[in-house]
Amino acid sequence: MSSRSERLQQIAEALLSARSVAVCAHVDPDGDAMGSILGLTHLLRCCGATVTPVLASGVSAPATYRFLPGANEFVPASESPEIDLVVALDAPDPARLGDARDLALGASKLVVIDHHPDNKLYGTLNLVDDRAAATGEIIWELLPYLDCVADKRVATCLYTALMTDTGRFSYGNTTPAALRRAAEMIEHGADAAQLYQHVYESRSPAALALVARTLARLAFANAGRVAYSWIGPEDFIETGALPEETENLIDEIRVVRGVDAVALLKSSHDSVRVSLRAKNGHDVGLVARTLGGGGHSAAAGFTRAGTIESVLAELLALLPSAN
Ligand code: AMP
Ligand code: MN
Ligand code: MN
Repeated sequence: MSSRSERLQQIAEALLSARSVAVCAHVDPDGDAMGSILGLTHLLRCCGATVTPVLASGVSAPATYRFLPGANEFVPASESPEIDLVVALDAPDPARLGDARDLALGASKLVVIDHHPDNKLYGTLNLVDDRAAATGEIIWELLPYLDCVADKRVATCLYTALMTDTGRFSYGNTTPAALRRAAEMIEHGADAAQLYQHVYESRSPAALALVARTLARLAFANAGRVAYSWIGPEDFIETGALPEETENLIDEIRVVRGVDAVALLKSSHDSVRVSLRAKNGHDVGLVARTLGGGGHSAAAGFTRAGTIESVLAELLALLPSAN
């Protein structure tokens, strides 16, 4: 048996032998975080386990993903029942777990499943594969080892994870393996058209007003190699959009041709949260790590103290310029 299948086996055994399991993921939960937590929750329940899906305290399920089966069952980390195993998903560093970090690091068994290249391997068992398009894809790989059948709910949640982290099956991580697994998920009941509509065609008018502002402020820097835009607290007040409605906002500006990198800066009162996307193979993960964040080479982010102007200046100095 290869070491990879041994690892999958080991993790499946740990999951199946636990009496009670809590499943958590990173703060600012995206489609992969939400879909992976709920997909694994349903999967382990299909296998007979007692499972609690957990979000960091103060974090609520983003409206976009509230259609997912089980999305109304989240428990804040501070109210999690007694558990003997925690699974941390899609989070390369325990610091990304919010207060679910205490739950995770305090558990006698911690299973980490992730696809970030900079994962700190902080679990007692780690399943980290940076070639996987999404954490949800790795969970799907566990299926044959768990010896139970994925139902429509599992397929729905994990397909959502895969669809969102591949940018609707369009980014460079859209591998043959990702597409094969997506096809299997559809065979198990995921409704591709319906899930697409839930995630990408159910936006509020307020969110579209935010898109309009973001596009109106599109600017170029570094001799045209970087495109960026920004939004501030007043934009949320004036449009009525919710902060969570910015999840795919950067996609609106990444469509521009001729740039190596795209940045969206979102300011709150004393800090700026930055989303970065690379085009043409530039490594924005490295840039994000330099500025205190993390992520993948093509999609990364960080949060930094300062104003839009100060953080933009720090960022542009690290992004490609004319030479
Ligand atoms: P986002 O721009 O929020 O969609 O994030 C893109 C990628 O960057 C995801 O893989 C995140 O996990 C990662 N990322 C975003 N913000 C941070 C942060 N503050 N620290 C570490 N990684 C981050
Ligand atoms: Mn994620
Ligand atoms: Mn992910």
